Amino acid sequence: MNFMIWFQAIVNIGLPIFFLWRLYKADYVSKRLWIVEWVSIAMFIGYIFVLSPWHMFIYYFRYLWLLLFVIVSIISYKRIRDIPKKGPEKDGSYKFSIGLSAVLALYFGLLMSFGLSGYINKDHAEAIELDFPLKNGVYSVGHGGAHTSINYHHSHESQKYANDILQINWLGLRANGLTPSELGQYTIYESPLYSPCTGKVTAAVDQYEDIPPIKTESEVEEPAGNHVIISCKNAEVLIAHIKPNTVAVAEGDEVVSGDLIGEVGNTGNTTEPHLHIHAERDGEGIPITFDGRFLKRNSLVFN
Ligand SMILES: [Zn+2]
Repeated sequence: MNFMIWFQAIVNIGLPIFFLWRLYKADYVSKRLWIVEWVSIAMFIGYIFVLSPWHMFIYYFRYLWLLLFVIVSIISYKRIRDIPKKGPEKDGSYKFSIGLSAVLALYFGLLMSFGLSGYINKDHAEAIELDFPLKNGVYSVGHGGAHTSINYHHSHESQKYANDILQINWLGLRANGLTPSELGQYTIYESPLYSPCTGKVTAAVDQYEDIPPIKTESEVEEPAGNHVIISCKNAEVLIAHIKPNTVAVAEGDEVVSGDLIGEVGNTGNTTEPHLHIHAERDGEGIPITFDGRFLKRNSLVFN
């Protein structure tokens, strides 16, 4: 897991530097090659913009790469204005360069379009509007949207529109470091959770201990860990992974939107402290909106 995050850091920070540097140097033998490589870099930047979980690597780099890509594209274009349109079309390594860039453009373009397809809430009429359950912070969506490439829950019927939410600090990081081993190093840990709607508590479980970050346990008795289910708006809204001994409501309680229900923890099937929330009706996940917004990976909520 740790290894994966370091690998992702290379993809999200190292590769953009490498590609933008290539574009900036503008060492191309033909305009044709430049265009194909420019498109492949554009698709790569788009791919990481949509699919990468930016709260792990300084959120604002997401926009920095876009901005630098535009600036470097202009500089690069000026530099290649006088080179020939076509290169040594029959040359093997030239053909390979064109082919490789074309394949990368297609690959990253496809991945990006999968992610973008999840930005649309296809069941819009059914979405239920909830109040955001966290206050006093900037929150980033780790998993959200209507495609598995940006929301791993999407393949589970009851959770297909679930959101996993993290809090980012002033630097745009969700923790002090890449994968700290203490729960308290994660900004969202112990944040108060408030009821997202007015309704009745149909389940309130507070019997599991926090688990250390990054170490997902293979056998979890209750994937949701300590959790609260509120029946409202003709749906069941589940809030999971609550901190031990903080669940502030009991089964049967009537709650009003904004009532304290617990604190963010790391119980159940979880890799690090975060809020998991989803709504379901008869076992089928239904889309949720906060302030009319359908949240996707990397959506920011200022609350
Ligand atoms: Zn989740």
